[in-house]
Amino acid sequence: MYGMFEVYHAPSRIFKIDFFFLTTDLDFDSLLAMSSSVNPVYLPTLDKLRAATTIDEEIPSNQPVEMEPLAMLVVQAALVRRTSWTEEVLNAPGHLQRGEPPAPADDEPRHHVRIDERLGGGACGACFERPGYRKCRICGGRGKIMNDKQFCSCRDGWVQCPTCGGTARSERVRLRYYSDTPAYLNEAYMPRHIGQIPSLFKLESFMENDLNLVRTPPEELRCHDLTGEVAGTAYRGGQRKIRPQFYGHDFGDTIEQALAGLNAAGAGANVMRYQVRAYAWPFLRLRWDDERDWVTYVDRMGQIRLFKGRNA
Ligand SMILES: [Zn+2]
Ligand SMILES: [Zn+2]
Repeated sequence: MYGMFEVYHAPSRIFKIDFFFLTTDLDFDSLLAMSSSVNPVYLPTLDKLRAATTIDEEIPSNQPVEMEPLAMLVVQAALVRRTSWTEEVLNAPGHLQRGEPPAPADDEPRHHVRIDERLGGGACGACFERPGYRKCRICGGRGKIMNDKQFCSCRDGWVQCPTCGGTARSERVRLRYYSDTPAYLNEAYMPRHIGQIPSLFKLESFMENDLNLVRTPPEELRCHDLTGEVAGTAYRGGQRKIRPQFYGHDFGDTIEQALAGLNAAGAGANVMRYQVRAYAWPFLRLRWDDERDWVTYVDRMGQIRLFKGRNA
């Protein structure tokens, strides 16, 4: 696998997640991953494995029959999802605005009410007797209280009609309620073909626990751009397709899996805001024979680790 694809260096750009939401038919082979600088300490090699003093296992001295440099993709995302629903009311409060609320500037939950549409009106149904007014409930319309010894706070037994606000008109209005809710995604994706190797069934959960992937991975493993296309190549009239990889470690189908996960997190809502961080965690699959389908990688502390696949 080494040498099949070249690593492309470019000024790091932001992770263009909008690409994911707006494009339905992605050509994943044109995606590209890179980190502005990788600390070679995190790249596993057979030499490092052989030199390790912390591994209590004899590493065969012959070359493995298969050696596949791969990478897990770790995605941490914060989204603000906006859902909305409507309700028809009579006489909406005068301060309500029209139009969609502004996009949120942070991840706080928020609720908004807006006027969706004015549906027309007629006479107020609550103030037939004297349009715009209603009988005072405190004095019963008498204008006086305390055995008629004191004047009531109303006007001669009448108050402004609370239903129409004194306009004597009623208006049906459709309100729209908006709810902005944060959603979080913290997921590690393993190339799926690894899961088809019976002896490596438990690799994914093993690495997730061993690497404590609930926590943010080291900055050196950050992928700043998974969407770049390589332009200006020797190929005329087109762009060279380069499979996304991390310093020679192939992501397999993890980017497709991550896109599906991000789309699911935003499904059923408008995604108003998003922050996505992606990290690679490189590993090396080694096979000497059917008994030894092993995986080696480097942990957070910089120690080389060995996962010995077990056949069921
Ligand atoms: Zn009164
Ligand atoms: Zn009224």
